[in-house]
Amino acid sequence: MRFILTIAFIFFMPVLIHARVLVVTAFPYIADITRIVGGDGVEVHSLASGTSHPHYVNANGAAARAIGKADLLIVNGAGLEDEWLEGMLKGSKNAAIQPGKDGHLDLSELVDLIAEGQTTLRRTPQFTHNGVNPHHHLDPANIPVYADAIAARLQRLDESNAGLYRANARSFVGEWKRRMKQWDSRLSDRKGSTVIQRHALFDYFLRRYDIVCAGSLEPAPGVSPTLQQANIILSETPADRTALIIRDVFNTATAANHLAARTGIKLVVLPHDVGSVPEAVDIFALFDEIVRRLAE
Ligand SMILES: [Zn+2]
Repeated sequence: MRFILTIAFIFFMPVLIHARVLVVTAFPYIADITRIVGGDGVEVHSLASGTSHPHYVNANGAAARAIGKADLLIVNGAGLEDEWLEGMLKGSKNAAIQPGKDGHLDLSELVDLIAEGQTTLRRTPQFTHNGVNPHHHLDPANIPVYADAIAARLQRLDESNAGLYRANARSFVGEWKRRMKQWDSRLSDRKGSTVIQRHALFDYFLRRYDIVCAGSLEPAPGVSPTLQQANIILSETPADRTALIIRDVFNTATAANHLAARTGIKLVVLPHDVGSVPEAVDIFALFDEIVRRLAE
């Protein structure tokens, strides 16, 4: 018995000496990068799930409870959480994770953002992109930038594990860059092809791989697709010059399915976050699956 207790004490001792950094993230992709970089130094909860509509998230209960005592909150930023996180953040009464504090990290401040043209449509509660496309995490070249920033922030909050975070980030970024070479070569045949999207979700990904987006079925981001909008896109880019229609997992499927049936253009459903389809079990598998479905 004493032997077992001694073993148990040695096993749990590091946890007793160094409490884990409690991290709450807005989205599963951020949680996955943070778990890889943070290793045993962190405990991570994501507010959104992979199938949540990213503009309108019903927060996961465990994550919502953790936000009050979190050491670090990591958000996607660029307006993606505007409709659902602000009230939770204020309600948390957690001074350490408010914007401007070391406990708050906004990933959109680290990367180049795609500005979206002004629309003539009146802003409605459904209008979800406010002059900038917030879905920057779908450019795979941005992922190492987040990993390095998350590692740097963890080092600042938890110096005792600084070496661990640095080493984990270095090996993650190395592996990520190897995978990017595979994705580049798998998508080389898609270069210069044209696609139509349901929502302006994959702009960063398409830009990275020189795939042209003829337009989105939504007249403005977040506004329901219209037949008129589909006709405008097809008048500018005929169906026989369009390789794919891209649909996401969280919006209604009707408009994209209807256009595919009407035109014969191939429809592909693409995952956008870890857990959004069964294959996307982690951040590597997410991009593997996007590439596989696009390359097919
Ligand atoms: Zn959006």
